[in-house]
Amino acid sequence: MTTHHILIVEDEERLSALLADYLKKSGYTIHIIENGLDVMPYVRSNPPDLILLDLMLPGRDGLDIARELRSFSQIPLIMITARVEEIDRLLGLELGADDYICKPFSFREVVARVKTVLRRSKPQAQEYPADQVVLDKARHKAVILGKTLELTAIEFNLLEIMAMSPGRIFTRDNLMDVIYPDGRVVSDRTIDSHVSKLRRKIQDLIPEKEIVVSVYSVGYKFELPD
Ligand code: CA
Repeated sequence: MTTHHILIVEDEERLSALLADYLKKSGYTIHIIENGLDVMPYVRSNPPDLILLDLMLPGRDGLDIARELRSFSQIPLIMITARVEEIDRLLGLELGADDYICKPFSFREVVARVKTVLRRSKPQAQEYPADQVVLDKARHKAVILGKTLELTAIEFNLLEIMAMSPGRIFTRDNLMDVIYPDGRVVSDRTIDSHVSKLRRKIQDLIPEKEIVVSVYSVGYKFELPD
């Protein structure tokens, strides 16, 4: 197995050193860049398997870097921000990042996210075979990994929208638009309650795998069964 090469772009030295230690322990090789201006030249000459990119950097900011990166490359990208409120705005900008992490983060969580994003970015994992997820809209039924789920209309719609874009994070606002297209405004708690019923139904049938994943303080995403 080849080692994945991860680029950490972060100007807080202590943080990047600790993060590098954790990732190295998980078997990754690490390169750290502190100045935003150094990112593109490095990436072009030595493309990493994944980039952890801090938003606020000296030299050049993370937004700018993400935009240029996506103009020529689909290298898996996890953006790191110091403010949780920022994540909604970043999602809205559609930078093409694969995930977002908010500081302060747990190192174990970052390692888990890195693993997930790398697994998802493997070409063979990007599309799931038709027999893994089958959606029957008329009957509000879904078959996941051969297990049949009986859902309410709202649960079905939530599952459908997320399953069509595996790995994409849906904010509660995104989901609200889907299940109440009439523009009705309901509380985040209403959305959470529908999603948690959906998750429970899936979990009862497929306890070994988390299919609809809660992304802390941001929303939810559908994870590919593998
Ligand atoms: Ca910073």
